[in-house]
Amino acid sequence: MEPFDAGIVDAEGLKGLNGACQLGMAEQSGRTDCGSRKILATIKILGSRLCLSQLIPSHLHPSKGCTMMLRFLALSLMALVAFPGWVRADSPLRALIIDGQNNHGAWPKTTMMMKKYLEDTKRYQVDISRTKFTWQGDDLLARYPLEDGVKREANGAAMPDPDFKPDFSKYDVVISNFGFGAAPWPAETNTAFEKFVADGGGLVIVHAADNSFGDWEQYNQMIGLGGWGGRTEKNGPYVYLDAEEKLVVDRSAGNGGSHGSQHEFTVVVRDSEHPITKGLPKSWLHSKDELYDRLRGPAQNMKILATAFASKSQGGTDRHEPMVMTVDYGKGRVFHTPMGHADYSMECVGFITLLVRGTDWAATGKVVDSSIPKDFPTADKSSQRKFD
Ligand SMILES: [Zn+2]
Repeated sequence: MEPFDAGIVDAEGLKGLNGACQLGMAEQSGRTDCGSRKILATIKILGSRLCLSQLIPSHLHPSKGCTMMLRFLALSLMALVAFPGWVRADSPLRALIIDGQNNHGAWPKTTMMMKKYLEDTKRYQVDISRTKFTWQGDDLLARYPLEDGVKREANGAAMPDPDFKPDFSKYDVVISNFGFGAAPWPAETNTAFEKFVADGGGLVIVHAADNSFGDWEQYNQMIGLGGWGGRTEKNGPYVYLDAEEKLVVDRSAGNGGSHGSQHEFTVVVRDSEHPITKGLPKSWLHSKDELYDRLRGPAQNMKILATAFASKSQGGTDRHEPMVMTVDYGKGRVFHTPMGHADYSMECVGFITLLVRGTDWAATGKVVDSSIPKDFPTADKSSQRKFD
């Protein structure tokens, strides 16, 4: 019936890679017959590092086999100079967090939290691109400054920034920490953003980022489901699992997006084969958060990997609402979680784990570290890492 109907039960079949050389050329190691002294050679070329373990002779006159090995190394180096893309072996992934206007005043802090979570993996280099006109979060801007030399102006309403033109093409993945009420970007930025994702870039949508830009058709395609921002039946159906846990595509009229009171709630994994959710406990208790419900949108090429039950006793819908989604947009991959309302929500170890896994997947199509942190929440007990 709908593309995502079958998608929910599809397994990605992708396997995460381990080790530091996760991209491009893998680590080369081996033992030759030309000696016994092992030297780890780390060769830096054009700012990238190739992991290379080889054996070289310990005597002054290398054997024939060893001479061949040295010739092989020399040829390899020439090839790497000619094709520098090959040496992305363990270059950091480049992530860009975009922010500046969000009805959630915690945004200057939550941006820094997400930056740290990614950089703590030692696999990411994270930049931040921020509108010169900011909205909300004024008190936290001083505490969590962005020292990029740009003079910014806080306004009482979100103002369009004609100079907001990040070079998305420099990045493997973009993470949006914009929120409800963000002013439209320049048209050329929208076009560049669409091209970036369609051409294979990664996109991460967290919480109120799915409130932004309700009138931007392609943005709605990328995020799959959204709320507020004028979203109604014109944008697509409500999508959820009913009380019997059956997928419902509900085209009834109404606004997109609502939530009950904040509380801890149980996240249930619905697709344990996808790299993002593989190996995670079937259910775990998420820290205090807003549980978004009644999200609606095009929901094309979308998979629901996890849900949470929005109990009416908490002001919800009595439906299992999507909490982790992926969307394929052209060649690009989108990871979307409506979790992450506040700093304390993002301190949840489940959120941190999903953010890193989801960003990995959006950036590369794989999840590098699929281990489960020792402090991961259980079905009965939430777990947080205090940020500061
Ligand atoms: Zn919120």
